[in-house]
Amino acid sequence: MKKILVLPGDGIGPEIVAEAVKVLERLRADGLEVELEHGLVGGSAYDAKGHPLPEQTLVQARAADAILLGAVGGPQYEALERPLRPEQGLLGLRSGLELFSNLRPAILYPQLADASTLKPEVVSGLDIMIVRELTGGIYFGEPRGVRTLDNGEQEGFNTLVYRESEIERIGRSAFEIAQKRGRRLCSVDKANVLEVTELWRQVMLRIAQDYADVELTHMYVDNAAMQLVRAPKQFDVVVTANMFGDILSDAAAMLTGSIGMLPSASLDADGKGMYEPIHGSAPDIAGQGVANPLATILSVAMMLRYSFGWSEAADRIEAAVGRVLDQGLRTPDIAAEGQASVGTAQMGDAVVAALG
Ligand code: NAD
Repeated sequence: MKKILVLPGDGIGPEIVAEAVKVLERLRADGLEVELEHGLVGGSAYDAKGHPLPEQTLVQARAADAILLGAVGGPQYEALERPLRPEQGLLGLRSGLELFSNLRPAILYPQLADASTLKPEVVSGLDIMIVRELTGGIYFGEPRGVRTLDNGEQEGFNTLVYRESEIERIGRSAFEIAQKRGRRLCSVDKANVLEVTELWRQVMLRIAQDYADVELTHMYVDNAAMQLVRAPKQFDVVVTANMFGDILSDAAAMLTGSIGMLPSASLDADGKGMYEPIHGSAPDIAGQGVANPLATILSVAMMLRYSFGWSEAADRIEAAVGRVLDQGLRTPDIAAEGQASVGTAQMGDAVVAALG
């Protein structure tokens, strides 16, 4: 029995998570061995408990096998001091649980190819996975700061640092993901300029010997950015450092043009993970019942595949999403101009019905 901690969060979070829970409940009725527990995070946790990540939530998260999160944040929390802001709830979960491997798929269902700003033939059927190192690299490296030089000029500095063990664990995570997909892994670095990524490349080459069934290639980050826009379908899995991944994964997500469709995962060394849509709490549409729940529902599919190894159930959810798109169902964010749209709950119900 797998225990899932459900953290709806703020804004549209509770609305979209409710639909993902419907899907889980339906699969449970069919024999999926999961139990659900609910908890508080973000602004709603601050409102109820005075902190965006109450101790009890962290205890629940540690005890769970996986976490399903909606989104956090809202304008009413922006004046709070930094440690009390909703996003600290997310950051606290990532660091508290050592979720160092961030999986960001960019999938474009053929039915939605027109939503992309790229030509449909370049992106239709796109299915790539960017694996970003999440807890190291230049965003965390020391020393860091802004100092005043002897001549009075100010100088800002950060440190790009990776230990061999940090590279190895994100590398292994990415190879294992590639084994569950198309068995091709592209490691993105800047080994021609940065010594730290020269080491990155050496470690990738070394551990590749343990994954003979995966084809490993290397690409410089500037070329990778270009190739992502030129011919994105050449990639299967991409693994890269924190900052490169931050930039490339946003670019890859935008190839699809539909933020309401994209799930994500953050995993620890044992495959335990937190699963969430890539979008935020969308305060502009919260409470209206029009948010797209598909990114959250697809986050459940990722959870079943990557934390629990239940690919059949994951396939079933993804196929159901494909079916509702085939039926022409669209929430307003993915509807073409003039096309009729459905609400959040209607879309969730349709996915449940399409599970067959
Ligand atoms: P956002 O992703 O919430 O919204 C951007 C735009 O996309 C909005 O117009 C919104 O209506 C739309 N949108 C997003 N998700 C949608 C969905 N499922 N269905 C239909 N439309 C959708 O980003 P933002 O407006 O920059 O941020 C809003 C709040 O969310 C802020 O407080 C921000 O800090 C927070 N945020 C949280 C996360 C997270 O929880 N992981 C991520 C990003 C932003």
